[in-house]
Amino acid sequence: MTNPLHDALFAPHEGSDKVFLHLPDGASLSYAEFLGLADRTANALVALGVAPGDRVAVHVEKSPQALALYVACIKAGVVFLPLNTAYTARELEYFVGDSGAALFVCDPSEAEAMGPIAASVGARLKTLGPDGAGSLSDMVAGQSDHFAPVSRDLNDLAALLYTSGTTGRSKGAMLTQGNLLSNAQALVECWRFTADDVLLHALPIFHAHGLFVATNVTLLAGGTLIFLPKFELEAVLRLLPQATTMMGVPTFYTRLLDDPRFDRDLTAHMRLFVSGSAPLLAETHKAFEARTGHRILERYGMTETSMNTSNPYEGDRRAGTVGLPLPGVEVRVCDPETRTELPRGEIGMLHVRGPNVFKGYWQMPEKTREELQEDGWFITGDLARIDTDGYVTIVGRGKDLIISGGYNIYPKEIEMFLDDQPGVKESAVIGAPHPDFGESVVAVLVPEAGETIDLAAIEAAVRANLAGFKRPRHVVVMDALPRNTMGKVQKVDLRQRFAGVFQHKAG
Ligand code: ATP
Ligand code: MG
Repeated sequence: MTNPLHDALFAPHEGSDKVFLHLPDGASLSYAEFLGLADRTANALVALGVAPGDRVAVHVEKSPQALALYVACIKAGVVFLPLNTAYTARELEYFVGDSGAALFVCDPSEAEAMGPIAASVGARLKTLGPDGAGSLSDMVAGQSDHFAPVSRDLNDLAALLYTSGTTGRSKGAMLTQGNLLSNAQALVECWRFTADDVLLHALPIFHAHGLFVATNVTLLAGGTLIFLPKFELEAVLRLLPQATTMMGVPTFYTRLLDDPRFDRDLTAHMRLFVSGSAPLLAETHKAFEARTGHRILERYGMTETSMNTSNPYEGDRRAGTVGLPLPGVEVRVCDPETRTELPRGEIGMLHVRGPNVFKGYWQMPEKTREELQEDGWFITGDLARIDTDGYVTIVGRGKDLIISGGYNIYPKEIEMFLDDQPGVKESAVIGAPHPDFGESVVAVLVPEAGETIDLAAIEAAVRANLAGFKRPRHVVVMDALPRNTMGKVQKVDLRQRFAGVFQHKAG
């Protein structure tokens, strides 16, 4: 009987007294305690009638119990489906219904609101948390802490993860045991993870980054997690001295840099800071190095593939790039229309192939056929350039490309220029429908704290430096850009908001 994820990630630590989770209140859980909890949870799933291949939808705050539920699902051959804690009841109904989940697990405080949703889609509802008789936690407490893992092979589904919905409706990505295992192995090798590592984990566990990358890498290497419910600055500053590595989204790093207490002394013992999920601004990269002496290692991934590329651990970590393909992963840049490979240095659609590439979109065979080619290449939807020495630069999303008067305009090029202007903290560039040009450029600028942006000076700089067709025709200052919980700028929102700005303009 085999279960590859169990065999590689959990089995080696059974009975171990080593600390797996450090909690912010000073408590900790050893590997043996955590895996015992996972086994009791797996027994509870079976007692509830959840069978291998069933989906368990999970909408709970981050906790050791929630993480144990993930491990329990892997052991029981059940498909784990974590859901963003920010989702509203209306959104949850879609995910729980679309996935055909057999069981829907929520926080006790939500039980009343979620009852009708679970009922409407025919899922059983259970709560995770100390809310008395009948909760999943209550059932877990009464179970044996031995569970024989269900036999699975590398091609069996381990998780169903919905994409962030940045470019449209979220799609369910079917991830296999082999996808998750190969990625954990590649990252342990690439980032030199060992049993001595203590990873500061402040990411959510409903997303590939916090769930698979951070957790699976630590389990595979036999390290320890400092497990924070969320990124809370005081806790991060207090606990950082106990960590050796940290994984974050760019906003974690900007928030740390905003605090003067974050300095070289606090980070001297750290060996690695990783950033991903959204582009890291060159300015943040530079400021971080100047303040701490560490060069943040930027990597690139997505729900459908977990991680694809990473800057090297040793060697040149190039700001503005997402580095080189991981071991076993291939990348290429193709013409978006003809899908033929383009020469190095040219911008086109990024394709990825390797053991990390998902099995397809849940119940979307056509979409799967469109984006996952028969020869294994997955069309990522991201525009990129690969340098002669193999470094990948993400230029933006295919859907964000602006076509104005027949010219292709890459928002990132304009954003990088605007970000460098005095008083500008960050910017977002989008296309809005234009009666003459098809689309024209709109720029949203966010000022540095306490500063005002001199729009006339920016206009002059743009005229002197950017070709006329790239020039923003409508410039707006906003306090902050709309972002989702992963720190991704919601350009769909901006496009909606500014859809009408050129409707009455011509020329
Ligand atoms: P949807 O597919 O539903 O529109 P999404 O693509 O935002 O949502 P995710 O799978 O969470 O959902 O995000 C993956 C995307 O995040 C990538 O395709 C890429 O556009 C972006 N991304 C991730 N890491 C980086 C990075 N280091 N630099 C630039 N972009 C990144
Ligand atoms: Mg996507």
